[in-house]
Amino acid sequence: MDKNQITRLCGICDKPKKDGIYLYQLFICTECEMDIVATDPRDEAYSTYVKKLKAINQSTFTM
Ligand SMILES: [Zn+2]
Repeated sequence: MDKNQITRLCGICDKPKKDGIYLYQLFICTECEMDIVATDPRDEAYSTYVKKLKAINQSTFTM
């Protein structure tokens, strides 16, 4: 086991993941990141992602 691998809870799929990125304060696992990138903006799943991301955006509001 690699002790440097910290498990974080993904803000999109709500599953504990080791690999991912931080978007604002939300941790997004690599799989969800790929999903978002691959999702067509006209897809219903895309608006779900956008809603989640907007929620964080409003809570931090540092930009
Ligand atoms: Zn995820």
